[in-house]
Amino acid sequence: MQASAEVLIIGAGLSGLAAATFLKHKDPDISLLVIEQGDHPGGAVASYLEEGYLAEAGAHGFLDNSLESKVLIHEAGLTQEVEKAPLSEFVRYICLDGQLQCIPQTPGKILKAPLLPLTAKLRVLADLWKKPLPDQPSVAQWVEHRFGKKMLPFADAVFTGTYAGDIERLKLEAVMPGLHNLEQTHGSVLKGALHKMRAARKKNGKKKKGLPAMTSFHAGMSRLPQAMAAKLIPNQEIMYRTVARSIARNEKGWLVRTGQLELQARHVIIALPVNRCLELLADSEFPTPPINALQEARIANVVLGFTDKAKIPFGFGYLAPEKEQRFALGALFSSHMFPARTPEGHVLVEALVGGRRHPERLDLPDEELVSKVYDDLKQLIELPDPPVFSRVLRPKYGIPQLEEGYPALLDWRQKIHAENNNLHLCGFGWQGIGINDMHKQAWEMAKRILTGYQEERAEEVKGVYF
Ligand SMILES: Cc1cc2nc3c(=O)[nH]c(=O)nc-3n(C[C@H](O)[C@H](O)[C@H](O)COP(=O)(O)OP(=O)(O)OC[C@H]3O[C@@H](n4cnc5c(N)ncnc54)[C@H](O)[C@@H]3O)c2cc1C
Repeated sequence: MQASAEVLIIGAGLSGLAAATFLKHKDPDISLLVIEQGDHPGGAVASYLEEGYLAEAGAHGFLDNSLESKVLIHEAGLTQEVEKAPLSEFVRYICLDGQLQCIPQTPGKILKAPLLPLTAKLRVLADLWKKPLPDQPSVAQWVEHRFGKKMLPFADAVFTGTYAGDIERLKLEAVMPGLHNLEQTHGSVLKGALHKMRAARKKNGKKKKGLPAMTSFHAGMSRLPQAMAAKLIPNQEIMYRTVARSIARNEKGWLVRTGQLELQARHVIIALPVNRCLELLADSEFPTPPINALQEARIANVVLGFTDKAKIPFGFGYLAPEKEQRFALGALFSSHMFPARTPEGHVLVEALVGGRRHPERLDLPDEELVSKVYDDLKQLIELPDPPVFSRVLRPKYGIPQLEEGYPALLDWRQKIHAENNNLHLCGFGWQGIGINDMHKQAWEMAKRILTGYQEERAEEVKGVYF
């Protein structure tokens, strides 16, 4: 059986659907087909509703500071369904010395707060004269070198919250390419940041941007892929239970084989997590990648509902650096941010367990996970009674870890793009792991198709939010 389209998109997660949405936005008549191995859209995004509790097995939200994400919300028709929790209001906590401490939202304010001794604050200034480390330092090596050991728990919290990762292994150049670039260009992050601030002031005058807001939807994050997929014609523009098994070049572009189908397309977007993409390209004509796979960090989300006697501190949630030796990596105070997610008179906490450093904890049975998380939380938060609701969500997807070998893998992808202007690789782990990164990458791929434009490696400096 044969089918053809101008653009074939493999994967109906946020990346593939975002690429389809952007392409249709720019060219409503474009012939495209999205194929998805599962029976529904969304991939790593999976909202979970039970007995009035709405939780997330995957992403909980994204910041509203990305133009690409704003366009998608509009195109998906979800503007009225958006829920926002501004970071200026929903403070975050870090567990330090066995206690939750409220942390200001920017590195500058952290330095002013009484969280660090004066000597540690002064040590940060050493960044002004420290030479860049050779090779590709890990985040931990880099932070200690530039800003001092006392800043490590804060860096640890950031990368526990985003990658469920290990700062001893994550590569600075891969996870913060913008900061790495500032350091390389200006010899110091502080000097580079000042330079950028001055340039921005020149451009925008005194207008300050302010902090972004965490964004989701009334019915949870799954609404976004569902709404984008609903704009595509079933079986003509989107096909479920269809697995791409191989891809080969031919005179008309690319031939993608699934179990039963041969799909011919001029352009193919492989919108898959890095490891799935490497598997698909493994026996093909492309050069061998520098590494076979990225490590992935798996987590479990232990969802707990309490009566409102529980005194959950107001805010977004907390993170626990590894040195605190806690059972949970941290927890989201979901019903503070998004209040309609519990039955009346109840509160919802979603605690994350496992990650790159503690995969063995995911082998525990659900009851044990619930009881260990409850014991852990009880020491940090006033919880007079045990949870009245509990559920352990075990996401199918791991979070790609941008560790040793990742920068070379990005070079490999760039070479493939340079040599094949009608093959486009984006998706979970290619230049970032967050939803906004995925939407940006999807937009870059749509732009390549529509204009033949050759993307350059973006080295954007992103805000560091805890
Ligand atoms: C536990 C967890 C928590 C997260 N939390 C956040 C968060 O709070 N904020 C944030 O910004 N980001 C978060 N993320 C990251 C975010 O979810 C991802 O960036 C995003 O969902 C990735 O989308 P994707 O489309 O690239 O990949 P995926 O979601 O993995 O989608 C790929 C799709 O391709 C399909 N597929 C795979 N192989 C094939 C094949 N051969 N043929 C056809 N189809 C195939 C899969 O079934 C899947 O549907 C989290 C991720 C995880 C795992």
